[in-house]
Amino acid sequence: MDSVLINVPLSSPLHIKANIVFLKSFIKENGFKIKAFDTNIHFFKWMLRDYDFNFHDHIYMDNPVKLLGLYNQIEEWLVAECSKYQGLTVDLRTIGLAYDRLRFDDVLKALDDSEANPFIAFFDEFIAKELKPLKPKIVGIGLTFQDHIISAFTLADRIRKSLCDVKIVLGGQMITRCYDTMLESGALDDLWDYLVCWDGEIPFLDLHKKIILKQDIPLVNVIEKGRDDWVLDRSRSAFDLDQIEHLDFSDFDFNDYFFPDMLIPLETARGCYGSCEFCAIPSGSNTGFRERSVGKIINDIVGVQKHTLEKYGLAATYFKFMDDTSSPRTLLHIAEEIHHRGIDAKWETYVRMEAVFQDFDVMKRLYGGGCRKLMWGLETNDPEILKSMSKKIQPISTNKVLDAAHDAGILNFVFVLIGFPGEKQEQRDVLAEYIIACNSIHVLTLATFDVTKHSRMQTDSTLPDDIKLEVEPSNGFEVRLPYVLNGENWKRVIVAEAQRFMVKVTKKRPDIGLVSLFPDQVRVIYTEKHGNGWGKKFLSKFGEDKIKALLLATEKYIDAFENENEIELSGLPDPLKREHIRTKEDIDAIAQAIKRRKKYETKRSDSI
Ligand code: SF4
Repeated sequence: MDSVLINVPLSSPLHIKANIVFLKSFIKENGFKIKAFDTNIHFFKWMLRDYDFNFHDHIYMDNPVKLLGLYNQIEEWLVAECSKYQGLTVDLRTIGLAYDRLRFDDVLKALDDSEANPFIAFFDEFIAKELKPLKPKIVGIGLTFQDHIISAFTLADRIRKSLCDVKIVLGGQMITRCYDTMLESGALDDLWDYLVCWDGEIPFLDLHKKIILKQDIPLVNVIEKGRDDWVLDRSRSAFDLDQIEHLDFSDFDFNDYFFPDMLIPLETARGCYGSCEFCAIPSGSNTGFRERSVGKIINDIVGVQKHTLEKYGLAATYFKFMDDTSSPRTLLHIAEEIHHRGIDAKWETYVRMEAVFQDFDVMKRLYGGGCRKLMWGLETNDPEILKSMSKKIQPISTNKVLDAAHDAGILNFVFVLIGFPGEKQEQRDVLAEYIIACNSIHVLTLATFDVTKHSRMQTDSTLPDDIKLEVEPSNGFEVRLPYVLNGENWKRVIVAEAQRFMVKVTKKRPDIGLVSLFPDQVRVIYTEKHGNGWGKKFLSKFGEDKIKALLLATEKYIDAFENENEIELSGLPDPLKREHIRTKEDIDAIAQAIKRRKKYETKRSDSI
């Protein structure tokens, strides 16, 4: 085997990720022998090896309560298994270890502590059973999220110890955003041979030509350890999505995933044509918004359906476009092709609030061509804040867009951002009332304002002069940077505000609370089966107690958060739980930054 690609834990066990499928397919089409492993799903199955469960039982398709019960049961089993390790928490979305994954020296310490780090035993088994027999020359490890850091470096460490000739290539968002601090520190240098930035396809192919075919080719967007002549240029080696003919899913078993059907990840585009102040998503990929042609996307859908029909006796129905943003023109074209060719495919994707979506006829055409869920970057409904964010949308269009999608039968999922600099309490209140009154919003997720590494805000802020945003330089694997707004720990303020916001919305819109209890990926199935109003429909049928428990848990959480008490996360609604886990280490980082600043100021005033 020339190479092996590995997707490491931890991310959702409900489906595979599109990036590993694209990368594997591209390298294979260029003539190399490559195999891909999704060790994320293998890790979940390894943790739960003593328990019996079967997501493909029909009862879970027909009965949402049973499905919710199974997810809850799995989380309870995970709690029991985690208690065998010191400081380990794993749920269906996130992982916490006793070591601070953002600090390089802590990551190194985790590699030798098998009482706290389950990945040591897990990857030793994986390497012995799966990797060693293949004798790969290159192993590519993808680090997309912070939850991948400790598992990825544990894998690299175990490979170093047992397969010393293998070249280890690290890529993905975490490397793209943190290669600078990694190089500066050098602490993790023994664990990699090459780092790849931005889109991995072309650089990874070049590495195959260099390592396997011994070609002397110039590398672009690849950092080779021990050399300082590397070329990093975001505008070069950008991947054209049409360079792949057929997507190859053969290395994955859809029966493994914790999903009652099959959810197939595809990509229609890379990059984003927006440039919102707070967002670093566009900088994670090469420059330029690049789309796969519609003919190829339709072939992807039909090809996967043929593959799953042959392998599992069932044509896959549900598709998720894992784009940063999909363009309206392409979506309409896809929908029209699906409709005209009579393909049974239902899909969901991420979209910007564009004027074209205000048109009910457009939404009807999207629905008719399989669209069942759209994820919108609403952020806020306040025109002033939207202007400061450079979202470039009008508030009037928001209503029209959401109503048109709702009327067409599509589930509207909105992202809401709390605490953009300059935002006032009254604006948050108006936003909460807007969401409560807007029956076209079916589910939401809340985020609190961050200064993200490589966002426009960090590099080229256009905030008004009266807003003083002080941002600390990044350390280790920090991608959300510690900041102080007008001298205040704003993050702590707005996290509490976001919690109040969520309680207010959930109390008056328990249907939103109910839908938010379900993992995001299954919402599309129930939309297909019961319509986009399934939250309201099922609330009276089976949800009152659950929602009450949810509200109670949320209020307890707010009290605990404000009083800095121990926090019980198990009963929280998913958006809040996720936001809490995400913000916990940011708040710690900010508190440390404030302490450092105070120390510096005291020192300075003492010397004056
Ligand atoms: S917030 Fe959404 S639309 Fe704006 S730049 Fe990021 S991905 Fe693009």
